[in-house]
Amino acid sequence: MSEEISELVLEALGGEASDPPKTQRIFTNRDLDFESIEAIGFDMDYTLAVYKQAAMEQLSLDVTVEKLLAQGYPESLSSLRVDLDFAMRGLIVDKQEGNLLKLDRHGYVGRAFHGHRRMSSSERTTMYSAQRIGQDPDRFAWADTLFALPEITVFAKVVELIDSAPELFAPGEVPSYAEAWHDVRAAIDLAHQDDSIKREIKARPGDFLDDDPDLAITLHKLRSSGKKLFLLTNSYYPYSKVLMSHLLDGRLPAYESWESFFDWIIVGSKKPSFFDAGRQFLEIDPDTGEPNGEAVDVPLRGKVYQGGAREGLQDALAMPGDSVLYVGDHIYGDIVKSKKSSSWRTALVLSDLEHELAVRDRYRSALEEIESLTRLRNQLAEESGDQRNLLRQIDKLEPDMLNDVVGDGVLTNEECEALREKGVQASRRRYERLKRHHERVHDRLKEVRKEVGAAFNPYWGSVFSERYDTSLFGAQVENYACIYTSRVSNFRFVSAARKFHAPHGSLPHW
Ligand code: IMP
Ligand code: MG
Repeated sequence: MSEEISELVLEALGGEASDPPKTQRIFTNRDLDFESIEAIGFDMDYTLAVYKQAAMEQLSLDVTVEKLLAQGYPESLSSLRVDLDFAMRGLIVDKQEGNLLKLDRHGYVGRAFHGHRRMSSSERTTMYSAQRIGQDPDRFAWADTLFALPEITVFAKVVELIDSAPELFAPGEVPSYAEAWHDVRAAIDLAHQDDSIKREIKARPGDFLDDDPDLAITLHKLRSSGKKLFLLTNSYYPYSKVLMSHLLDGRLPAYESWESFFDWIIVGSKKPSFFDAGRQFLEIDPDTGEPNGEAVDVPLRGKVYQGGAREGLQDALAMPGDSVLYVGDHIYGDIVKSKKSSSWRTALVLSDLEHELAVRDRYRSALEEIESLTRLRNQLAEESGDQRNLLRQIDKLEPDMLNDVVGDGVLTNEECEALREKGVQASRRRYERLKRHHERVHDRLKEVRKEVGAAFNPYWGSVFSERYDTSLFGAQVENYACIYTSRVSNFRFVSAARKFHAPHGSLPHW
């Protein structure tokens, strides 16, 4: 039985193919009729080629530190080890203050670390108070992809050294936080470009790449249902060739090599500017991996190109923009930018989703408790506030007024005073009772939230939420990714006729 038929049989029997576990589902923000999608484009790094995060981070970190040491940074940086929890996708770096920030959907700071030290809420409030963190790129940098995590780890360590061991820097050479950020950024940028990271990965791809045994069959299924596929990556040909060969060569007999899975192949695409640039496509000589001098506006099928622009690719595809689905991991370069500058539909690959969903499943009852405790706490806060105001009003009642309202004007001043005192006592008891209840609920809520938050991430909680709301990253996912999932091979569960339906949207007043 062929693999395809066996999948259909499985599906008919209600097996795995039609009912994937939640960690392998595709989630919908905006309705998408999969049948109307005629072409699917894939980013490579962290989309088709998913890295083993610990190995990748340690390599990036080692190479970056090596470059910093060569510039005179303290030797103690060389002992730096990855902590997979510390840096998280979606964080914002405040270069000026040496802080890492997690924002809620409105752009307000929810959690903050100075280097590796958690900032207290008063410290946070003093520094950022009611400030909505803006887009100022001179001051803030965003961790948009998993590639950005090692630089956050290195920066936090350098901040720590600047604060606690400035003597380790050469005299008069202690950098400001912003200078340190600039140096770290430049070092890792160079490490990506001068082959020092890629050399290691090319030599031992198996040590760095997650082997997804379902990737080839997934691409095959999509092709068999009539979709055109293309690869659109910022990586250049020699590197892309090693990774894609490792992942796809020899996986399915019908495909001679990794190139045969794709109708168009574009490397070195320079996303995000690919989406609105007016660049030509340079044909690549597969033997040298370098452009062979031919430049075209519209790429041909079956050849490999470098550079180019979306407009030319769109002409090659010869189909409406909204018949194209682009699948990528970079929230800005792949998703926000393509959404803003084209009508391409977008699918975001978030490997962190598997952990997120596993924790949500494990802590389901605690999460429900958090929801009901939050409602109760808010209600008690309001009721105790009302009761406190009532207490103040009764306390201030003048005997005359009291006499008019409840005494028909016949009570003596002493009787009025006794009545007022009785009212005050009763109201105070109610207030104290509500306050105690509110405190108990608040404490319990804090305790459960802490426990669940630590299960998501001991430093930052869930990638997708902050305080009682969606995180800024979560809001970007919601606003720009039509659909999102943990890995490309989850598309193997999707039938050609699938209609992705978003949950009915609602505003608070609906
Ligand atoms: P993708 O296939 O479009 O995801 O492209 C990712 C490419 O960008 C990989 O080749 C990475 O090595 C490269 N890259 C990631 N971060 C940086 C950076 O900070 N500077 C330069 N290149 C980077
Ligand atoms: Mg990528």
